[in-house]
Amino acid sequence: MEALTEALAVRRFRLAQIYRAAAKELRQTFSEVTVLPVAMRTAFGERMRLASVELAHEATSGDGQTTKFLFTLADGKKIEAVLMRHKGGRITACISSQAGCALKCDFCATGQGGFFRHLTSLEIFDQAVFVARRARDEGTSLTNLVFMGMGEPFLNYDAVMDAIALLNDGDGFNLGARHITVSTAGVVPGIDRFRGEGVQVNLAISLHAPDDALREKIMPINRKWPIRVLMKAVREYIAATNRKVFYEYLMLSGVNDRPVDARQLADLLGGPLHHVNLIPYNATDAPYGSSSPADMRKFQDLLRERGVPSTIRHTMGSDIAAACGQLRVDRARSG
Ligand code: SAH
Repeated sequence: MEALTEALAVRRFRLAQIYRAAAKELRQTFSEVTVLPVAMRTAFGERMRLASVELAHEATSGDGQTTKFLFTLADGKKIEAVLMRHKGGRITACISSQAGCALKCDFCATGQGGFFRHLTSLEIFDQAVFVARRARDEGTSLTNLVFMGMGEPFLNYDAVMDAIALLNDGDGFNLGARHITVSTAGVVPGIDRFRGEGVQVNLAISLHAPDDALREKIMPINRKWPIRVLMKAVREYIAATNRKVFYEYLMLSGVNDRPVDARQLADLLGGPLHHVNLIPYNATDAPYGSSSPADMRKFQDLLRERGVPSTIRHTMGSDIAAACGQLRVDRARSG
């Protein structure tokens, strides 16, 4: 604060005004920060940007439920965020934690594109501000936020936790921790750290396969932290926090959607604090197809018979390439 007041040659209360304008009032440019004197707005606007992400492109699905945003960062890197307007009133922002991703999951468009760099906490936070602003302009407001965009949040741990603190700030963005979900491909040291944070943020694990042989094939990270090690970390997390864990299970036809997979998955999980989200696969260049709705229901029945609660997610935005990393790929192709 001191360095900033000095560098900008302003009094401290100006910083508080600017923070409030950006984080609470969701203003995107200094010209909108009308609480500042006009000369100051102009001077700041010439020297710097209020928002660290700039909209490059957007696309809305035919049903109007999903809008995907492609942003350009100060160094030209591209990242994505998504606004989902669920039937029933929930409004969810899905945001990125890294530009690209190093984990190379076989089915994921982001992984296929490679890793560029970590995002700063502000680049993460500003995606939420942008999406929340859009929701507000539509007469709604954000109810939920998920770290399920590009990147692996637990490989950019500190910036993600700083962004969460900004999201939670009652004097700023004011989104409660219980409405936020961090999703990891299974970075065990991250899960261990997260266990000790004492926050109410939800944890989701991208499991996608119930045994090592299969998981290793589609998620290389499984070689570093195999299922046994991952599940031990999850059990310790549940024991310490008493919080429910969500599993993402991508339904890949003929790959991980067989009855034997469902039975194995049920054996692995079990207990009331495990909830599985069965997710239809959004087609990428990878040689996979989504399971049929009938196969997904059968899979869910087998889980239910074994006492494992699950939800079948319906696809949103498949006509606008809304799955992880797809929009960036599309735009790069079309130039
Ligand atoms: N790296 C983190 C968070 C980002 S990915 C993680 O792995 O959890 C968010 C979710 O989207 C993950 O479950 C990921 O496996 C899933 N996903 C990636 N590509 C997909 C696709 N083409 N269709 C559906 N889900 C996809």
